[in-house]
Amino acid sequence: MRVETTQPQGLGGDTALGRVERDAEAFAKRLVQASPREIIEAAALATPGHLAVVSSFGTESAVLLKFVADVDPSLPVLFLDTLWLFKETLAYRDALVSRLKLSDVRTITPSPSALALRDPKRELAFLDRDACCGIRKVTPLADELAAFDGWISGRKRFHGGDRAALPVVEADGPRLKFNPLARLTHTELNTAFAAANLPRHPMQALGFSSVGCVPCTGRPAPGGAVRDGRWGGLAKTECGIHAGPLPAPER
Ligand code: SF4
Repeated sequence: MRVETTQPQGLGGDTALGRVERDAEAFAKRLVQASPREIIEAAALATPGHLAVVSSFGTESAVLLKFVADVDPSLPVLFLDTLWLFKETLAYRDALVSRLKLSDVRTITPSPSALALRDPKRELAFLDRDACCGIRKVTPLADELAAFDGWISGRKRFHGGDRAALPVVEADGPRLKFNPLARLTHTELNTAFAAANLPRHPMQALGFSSVGCVPCTGRPAPGGAVRDGRWGGLAKTECGIHAGPLPAPER
């Protein structure tokens, strides 16, 4: 299901992007009560050979990756290495890849030319976090996803904020975005960890309930929400890869 963004408007006011929107709504209705596995299977069927999983290999990632591995361990898994990650996250990635026998994990790094031009002193994370996320996360992912018709994210409604009303399937510009864990509760997440004896991110035991980049990750206050430690003290709550359709690829 390859959709070209430049496709002209057709008879009856139909457009390629409009069709993706309608497909997403139809899938969201059909899969509203589906299990994570059923949603991943439906995603693979809807976008044969052109489906990617996006994972941060963070504190909750193992559960989505286990569901993915149970369906097809050869599905491409895109991992955004911003070059600001904790070494513990890189080690956890390697451990999960080995444990789940994921055979196509692609580590995506920022463009060296973009870093040289816009963050030559490696200080953008302290000056303009949206711009930093832009060159280290959003643009690299947009470029990589250009080859895919659908992607899978691990977001959940219990994270709250913008995620509280997360649909199971949504449109992301010319491609479908599937959220197989949207309905999962925190308790069900922990149950899934235990049932499959999945290893935990090594920083979780130190009080980090959500782990991203070094300059933008802290421990949440006791009783805080899962993602409270991300960009602590700032209005920013998301990196931008889920803030609407990804931009057009730059390469
Ligand atoms: S989370 Fe922080 S360090 Fe990481 S890309 Fe965004 S602003 Fe930069």
